[in-house]
Amino acid sequence: MSACYDACENSSVAVLESPTGTGKSLSLLVGCLTWLRDYSIRSRDSTIDRLREDLLAKKGNKPAWVIEHSLKLKREDLDNELRLMDERLAAVREKEQLLRKHTVKYDDDNARKKIRIDYDDAADDDHFLPDENCQSENDDINADAKAMLDEFDLNSSKLHSSKQNQNQNRSKYMEAAELQEQEVDRTKIFFASRTHSQLSQFISEISKTSYQENARVISLASRKNLCINSKARNAPGGDAGLNERCRELRTAPASSEKRCEFYPKIDEQGRLLEFRDHALSSIRNVEDLEELGKTLHVCPYYGSRRAIKQSEICTLPYNLLLSKRARESLGISLKNHIVVIDEAHNLIDTILAVHSCSVTMRTLNAAINALSTYMQRYGKRLSGQHLVSLKLFAKTLKGLIVFCDKMKAQRETQKATPRQKNDKQPHPQTQTQEEIFQPKDVVEGFGEDVNLGSVEAYLRDSHMSQKLGAFAEREAKQDSLRKPYNKDSKDSTSTDNVSFASASSMHHVQSLLLALAYPDSDGRVVVTFEADTVRLSYQLLNGAEHFRSILDESRAVILAGGTMHPITDFKTFLMPSLPPSRFTSLSCAHVIPPSHLLATALSKGPSGLDMDFRYEARSKPELMNELGMIVQNLINLVPDGLVIFFPSYGYLNSVEAHWKKSGVIGRIEQKKKLFREPKEAADVQITLDKYTQGIQCKTGKITGSVLFAVVGAKLSEGINFSDNLARCVVMVGLPFPSPSPALEERKNYVRSFTKSSQHDAGNELVMNQCMRSVNQSIGRAIRHQNDWAGLVLIDKRFGTSQIQNKLPGWINKSMTVSQTFPQAIKNIAPFYARKKKAI
Ligand code: SF4
Repeated sequence: MSACYDACENSSVAVLESPTGTGKSLSLLVGCLTWLRDYSIRSRDSTIDRLREDLLAKKGNKPAWVIEHSLKLKREDLDNELRLMDERLAAVREKEQLLRKHTVKYDDDNARKKIRIDYDDAADDDHFLPDENCQSENDDINADAKAMLDEFDLNSSKLHSSKQNQNQNRSKYMEAAELQEQEVDRTKIFFASRTHSQLSQFISEISKTSYQENARVISLASRKNLCINSKARNAPGGDAGLNERCRELRTAPASSEKRCEFYPKIDEQGRLLEFRDHALSSIRNVEDLEELGKTLHVCPYYGSRRAIKQSEICTLPYNLLLSKRARESLGISLKNHIVVIDEAHNLIDTILAVHSCSVTMRTLNAAINALSTYMQRYGKRLSGQHLVSLKLFAKTLKGLIVFCDKMKAQRETQKATPRQKNDKQPHPQTQTQEEIFQPKDVVEGFGEDVNLGSVEAYLRDSHMSQKLGAFAEREAKQDSLRKPYNKDSKDSTSTDNVSFASASSMHHVQSLLLALAYPDSDGRVVVTFEADTVRLSYQLLNGAEHFRSILDESRAVILAGGTMHPITDFKTFLMPSLPPSRFTSLSCAHVIPPSHLLATALSKGPSGLDMDFRYEARSKPELMNELGMIVQNLINLVPDGLVIFFPSYGYLNSVEAHWKKSGVIGRIEQKKKLFREPKEAADVQITLDKYTQGIQCKTGKITGSVLFAVVGAKLSEGINFSDNLARCVVMVGLPFPSPSPALEERKNYVRSFTKSSQHDAGNELVMNQCMRSVNQSIGRAIRHQNDWAGLVLIDKRFGTSQIQNKLPGWINKSMTVSQTFPQAIKNIAPFYARKKKAI
């Protein structure tokens, strides 16, 4: 808690590691909020002090009591500002309590009944025409203001209102915009986490503190989570389709029935303020805001944005915080605010992923087909400017396709050419083949008249990619209705079919064009040769430059997580230019007593074989046999749940196949119900339910369940294997990322800016990535103060200090290394015997 307070006070960047169950969220919350309240009082005092100095400097003949009187008035002003807000929110709270007794909630079903026009029916041809205001002069203002301006322009131009009405509308807009501008952007805490459920959990922690009465909290989320208009929610094309549909509904003329009824007109901005006050008057998560929106009949997406400035805590998912574009479009400034990023163990990879994008050649073909169908249909209705821009877009798409074709042809030639003795063989581990290019290599053949920046700006301003995607989806739908169903038809995979150009795939195309138009110096294009297509990906190699905008703008940054080791990575790869004096880190011990944890590394198997799970050694049958014997021994000792993490699906498949033949699987199943991590996300919950049932409903000789899982897949993060769900977690080998040209490029890149004679920064990067995955996986067990479990790390490399130092401190401290298997059993057996006795 004090580490958080100090980080805020000293404008530091702090990396805090606090194991699950130690009250991390509460500490973050109380530490930051206490500082915020103290800071608010101190800010007022320092404003008064500054004013006193000013007044004294210009004192002249004024008597002292006049100065003191001025200061008193100023202090009252400052206090009043906060008091008035508190009073306003208190009044809302009171009103809500009363209303709760009587309120007739807005009936969303009734609202739906009122909506007569289904999206697809409404999608008349005009709907697909590009927006006329392509050259937006309002790019520098945020989306709210833009929407208001859109509305103003539409109202004034389409309704042919009188000059007087136009002036009235404009002054109403100016009033609303000015009001928003004048609002003080109070110093606040931006709290980001990976998922909405993690953010909801954080919000529920506030209710456990004394701040629950008056903390001003707002939850930001995407339209997908907050839109309450079914016409937009049901729009095809995923998130991109929803966003585009929302824009159309919001900017429709005020009198049109197409207009979103939840988005206040320019003379109804008070509705947004009402939403803001209700939202801030009590602690609400995203679902609560959705309900509030339905009750007040106000869009929760825009309503919550209206509350940002007045809030003390603003929660938001990673992607909204980490991308500067997303922050700008939400109207978020981090200037002088506190940024807390929870579950930050994967922050580096997340930043890289947020700023990377990819499309397949199949999507590019579908896009060009959709575009040519579109041009045939609408060509005559388009202005000359649109025609020119669309032709340039078509040329860009063709340029990308030609590049992919060239790559494909080169690859075929390489495959057909007999290998020379000295040729480098592709690494056997590389499943898909990759090649790396500089972005300029990809775009150089597009032609001199193609300016990628202009093409992307056109797509953005005219909303053409979304319109084209929606058009293609409608065409595909109508096409499938016209054609009789033929299950053998190859249409669904044909590149002639426009159905692939969905609104979301067009969004990816636009993202790729944007990345290629303004590439980062550390951005590369990766060409991946997949089974039936070529993929073009723009990949960022280094997140430091993007993270710098957060560091530079904010007052303090706190990165927190249950397992943040190896901590040095954050400093080296994410904030290399941060002065050491601004960087601080803290690794908290676990709250469990030492007797609740057994952490042991196994270097040798029962027959004395080295536990060597390096890629080149791990497929040996004798090693798999040895591993089988270890698992059988553990199954006899461990009660209830046992989770075994393998380094990859491929290795799990090999081991399972070998164990089936050798009878190990049969012997495991005599003792425990056996489950395996599914590949499909939709099957995860079913598997977990059955696994839990196996532990809870033991029959005969069955002592629980065993789960074979894969590091970095769906069960190694965010899943809580507390108590008897995992009395032991086994880690088989070290899950190093698969070698690939893209990984090599990244290693070389970090080597180029991290000059150290002591270690190879590229290898360090890979090692740390591997250990973060290990730490996440073994962190699934021991989730609270009374929990207990064993952690068995099987690989002789776990016996080295280099690896052990990258484990969380509380695990490393308890670590024993067994050089022989009997020695390991001597450690493990008494631990479980003691625990079984205590149950
Ligand atoms: S304004 Fe709000 S409620 Fe209306 S469509 Fe957009 S996100 Fe949905």
